[in-house]
Amino acid sequence: KANITKRKFDVVIIGAGGSGMRAALELSRAGLNVASLSKVFPTRSHTVAAQGGVSASLGNMSEDNWHYHFYDTIKGSDWLGDQDAIEFMCREAPKVVYELEHFGMPFDRNPDGTIYQRPFGGHTANYGEKPVQRACAAADRTGHAMLHTLYQQNVKAKTNFFVEWMALDLIRDADGDVVGVTALEMETGDLHILQAKTVLLATGGAGRIFGASTNAFINTGDGLGMAARSGIALQDMEFWQFHPTGVAGAGVLLTEGCRGEGAILRNADGERFMERYAPTLKDLAPRDFVSRCMDQEIKEGRGCGPNKDYIVLDMTHLGVETIAKRLPSVLEIGHNFANVDITKEPIPVVPTIHYQMGGIPTNINGQVITQKDGIDNAVVNGLYAVGECACVSVHGANRLGTNSLLDLLVFGKAAGRHIVEFNNRNKEHKPLPADAADKTLARLNQLDSSTDGTYSQDIAGDIRAAMQLHAGVFRTQASMDEGVKKIAEIRSRVASVTLKDKSKVFNTARIEALEVDNLIEVAQATMVSAAARRECRGAHTVYDYEHPADHAEFPLGRNDKEWMKH
Ligand code: FAD
Repeated sequence: KANITKRKFDVVIIGAGGSGMRAALELSRAGLNVASLSKVFPTRSHTVAAQGGVSASLGNMSEDNWHYHFYDTIKGSDWLGDQDAIEFMCREAPKVVYELEHFGMPFDRNPDGTIYQRPFGGHTANYGEKPVQRACAAADRTGHAMLHTLYQQNVKAKTNFFVEWMALDLIRDADGDVVGVTALEMETGDLHILQAKTVLLATGGAGRIFGASTNAFINTGDGLGMAARSGIALQDMEFWQFHPTGVAGAGVLLTEGCRGEGAILRNADGERFMERYAPTLKDLAPRDFVSRCMDQEIKEGRGCGPNKDYIVLDMTHLGVETIAKRLPSVLEIGHNFANVDITKEPIPVVPTIHYQMGGIPTNINGQVITQKDGIDNAVVNGLYAVGECACVSVHGANRLGTNSLLDLLVFGKAAGRHIVEFNNRNKEHKPLPADAADKTLARLNQLDSSTDGTYSQDIAGDIRAAMQLHAGVFRTQASMDEGVKKIAEIRSRVASVTLKDKSKVFNTARIEALEVDNLIEVAQATMVSAAARRECRGAHTVYDYEHPADHAEFPLGRNDKEWMKH
């Protein structure tokens, strides 16, 4: 048997991005012994890339209250979000933002010293009447500022970080309770068992199942893979958000904050076409809708460039000073990824995969829920999930921009608080089962002894190509059905992945092979769920079906103010 070390903690958190670190802070401050694992240095987690802002109805710059935020989020979700969870999130929003301010977050300021807020897609005042300024921003580096603030607070609170450690599998005992995880120390290739009263999954998004994505290379859906492999069904996986403004050909994101600051989408005729589709919110309509409109313009021959295959985002009228102050990263991205000076010319953009609305199902305490003994929402003892990998269902079928950073603050904190109670009630660790690491060891042995098979890079490439083709902005039933078959065929090759270099010491090929185990779980759950949802809903748009009359257009047909009274 391999030499496996065992360690014991109160809580093991997989992921040191915004959600994991917000939860860790609550736990370490309560005196619990917390292990926080991350594949990368904490401040390189993907939250660092968040640009535009975090939403809260502070009302610093225009009239606002949580009811409006609540309404916008439900409507933005195409009526599929969990309304209790959304209410909780929107009510908590001002509190968690002010907390962050007190932790030292360097928000931009108004002349009166209050937090600067910009407009964002789908965020309105008075139930859809006009755009509202709700996104609290630190220039276009909000995630960077947030992540560094949370990291500093965690260092102060003595959270134990395990940097460049990759969690591999959940350990469940005979009752189905989670009692720990197996993890690979990437530098040495050693395997460890981390025993815990509670495991919290905070592994972020899985955008790397697609070919063109705004996500970092580490976003391979590990938490979702771990949950799915241990028998926990994933929720709402058909809903993937395409961000309207990824740099054409590069995938890199241009924040919606650009449009919040006044940038305009134009077609080949120079027309501000969003005025035609969404007369009230124009370029700041929800993302699913803007992406569909852009695709429509391109399909009808009004795309830009020699191949008429992109739209342009025009910021030239904003002025050099505003761009340098509010959108400095966008200025750099223009130069570096499109060779465009955005102060002088419009930049080519296309809808690009950005965010997963679905994930590991949880309640508002972050407890993972599953089907057990005929019960639909049975809690998995000892297992929690927060952030983009989780689905408490505040985003439904389409997330509003800036609600994700909010989601991870609100539910990171809530999960942290609940875990403290759970740990106080459960004084002793449950014993580890005798076969705790067997599944993981078998996988590592297969990789290390493989002599032929497919290389993981090729399989990952096949997954990405299939997802791009069969689960794009516009889907068809026939193409999705074909995608289901294709992904099943790719899956049959995953078990026999082979490694050329069998070294254990920081062997990135070995790590990528293990990530493919997670990519395939997420891709298959996405493809199967997409093919099974026979309607248009939010980000899931299928040519074969009409958008139901109720949510066919934006603004919607129904009397929203009347509906809100009930
Ligand atoms: P992450 O920050 O991605 O952290 C995941 C962590 O898990 C990392 O530490 C990683 O190392 C770790 N991890 C993963 N797998 C393992 C494993 N197997 N073992 C150990 N550790 C592991 N949202 C907004 O609300 N406002 C914005 O302005 C905004 N801008 C965005 C801009 C971009 C370019 C992108 C891509 C997204 C943006 N979003 C925005 C979305 C938002 O940033 C993310 O949803 C959010 O930051 C995710 O946070 P997280 O804590 O869930 O995950």
